[in-house]
Amino acid sequence: MSAQTDNNHPHSHIAVPISDPPPATFFDDTQWRVLYALMDTVVPPIAAAAAASGEELVVAVNSDGKSPADNGHQALSKELFESHYQKMQSCMVTPPSREAFAAYLSEKPSEIQDFRNHLVRTLSTISPDARKQLGTVTYLLGTKFGSYALTGHTKPFYELDGEARESVLRSWRGSCITAIRGMAKSLTSIGTKTWVQTSPLFRELSGYVDVPEDYAEKAAAAAAATERPPPPEYVFKQFPAAASETGSGRRGPRHGRRHRGIRVRRRRLRARLGRGGHRVLVVEKGYYFPPSQLPMRSDTAETNLFLNRGVISTDDNSVSAVAGGAWGGGGSVNWGVSLKTPGYVLDDWAANRGLGFFNTPKFQESLERVCDFMGVSDEHAKVTPHNSGGRDHHCGHCHLGCGSGGKQGPAASWLPAAARAGAEFVEGFEVERIDFEDFASGKKAAGVSGKWVSRDADGGTAARSTSGPCGKSR
Ligand SMILES: Cc1cc2nc3c(=O)[nH]c(=O)nc-3n(C[C@H](O)[C@H](O)[C@H](O)COP(=O)(O)OP(=O)(O)OC[C@H]3O[C@@H](n4cnc5c(N)ncnc54)[C@H](O)[C@@H]3O)c2cc1C
Repeated sequence: MSAQTDNNHPHSHIAVPISDPPPATFFDDTQWRVLYALMDTVVPPIAAAAAASGEELVVAVNSDGKSPADNGHQALSKELFESHYQKMQSCMVTPPSREAFAAYLSEKPSEIQDFRNHLVRTLSTISPDARKQLGTVTYLLGTKFGSYALTGHTKPFYELDGEARESVLRSWRGSCITAIRGMAKSLTSIGTKTWVQTSPLFRELSGYVDVPEDYAEKAAAAAAATERPPPPEYVFKQFPAAASETGSGRRGPRHGRRHRGIRVRRRRLRARLGRGGHRVLVVEKGYYFPPSQLPMRSDTAETNLFLNRGVISTDDNSVSAVAGGAWGGGGSVNWGVSLKTPGYVLDDWAANRGLGFFNTPKFQESLERVCDFMGVSDEHAKVTPHNSGGRDHHCGHCHLGCGSGGKQGPAASWLPAAARAGAEFVEGFEVERIDFEDFASGKKAAGVSGKWVSRDADGGTAARSTSGPCGKSR
């Protein structure tokens, strides 16, 4: 059974539905109130309506009868508004009107339903420890005593006015206590990331579009002009729900002893093993999305194309990283810049780390072969070489997946080659354990076990859940 794809129409974009947010019950009402107040501090709503219309700034009244100050808005003087507006005008091709800019400034994140949903999704996927910490902080900030300890004010955080909240957040960012600095950094990045992805006015005013208007035509024209191969038609192994749930019968992916490599960087090896007559099974915890579903909306991509919804942080939150988490790994969302490992790095590996192979002509040959296979060239990109199959490539949304199939990432190049050589594929399989056995040549990985989660009933991934047709498989 193959995954639901639309390989026949690679350039008719099909939006991937976003899943409903999970229940927000991990925090109580007061904790959410505190958290929304924190989010409204990270991206503060600013009252600038009067300034926009050229009058002196007066406190406007909202539809609920409250003044902006009551509603948590911060006031902006006419001069400051003008200075920001001029600055924006000078750097935008089609700047918005003063009124639209003022409306944008007054946007309040916590009043945007998409923002709230997105926040729930994000917090439901962070580590339980991080969620617990945030739960403790929001609980404390909802009490007078806790708020005093963390902010110096004797009111719950959500009762502070915008200015006071902002100065609290600033003081946390400069705190000498690492945990408080880390918390401020995390809150700021969660708030700004969520807002950028869900603010209707930010998207409208910045001119950002999920799929560039002329993208389909350009991609189709480029494909026609260069006889681009059709997108791969993947067939993924499926496992009956009953067998995996009851533990009887066949229990998920099984494979021979030689092919344990899960990581993308071994894909090439898999293809070679396949040609050599070995049995190869490639497993990936993410899912395949065909070019027809790419580039994806950034909020949907976050769930479907990136590891851990796009942010992986160290325990102390001091370092964050972004990594791909779909079929093809980082290669499906990277910018395709393909630089050969520089000589000084190879020299260092060879001289100081005992990795002499990297300084041999054989390694250079391998690099050439890889670049050749992916069509790495700087002929069209002009600035840096890209793996665009040696062809011109229209994109700009590479990090949301390649809709033209032009980028020769693993999902478009190495994995189809592995399939042609007989490799088998499982998507949605998260390896939890790798077993090792003793071989004559030493200890080697001999098997993997983990959890397979099937696609949902429509063949998509929006409604999948671990309580569905899935189970531990070995
Ligand atoms: C937005 C972005 C842009 C980038 N741009 C460039 C660029 O232009 N040029 C460049 O050279 N590099 C770029 N990179 C970096 C590059 O993509 C990565 O270095 C590269 O993909 C790493 O390859 P990898 O094989 O080590 O792992 P990955 O490509 O990260 O693949 C690991 C895969 O394993 C899966 N996985 C993880 N755990 C499990 C598990 N337990 N069970 C099953 N599957 C699992 C993940 O879902 C993932 O798909 C970019 C990265 C990003 C995120």
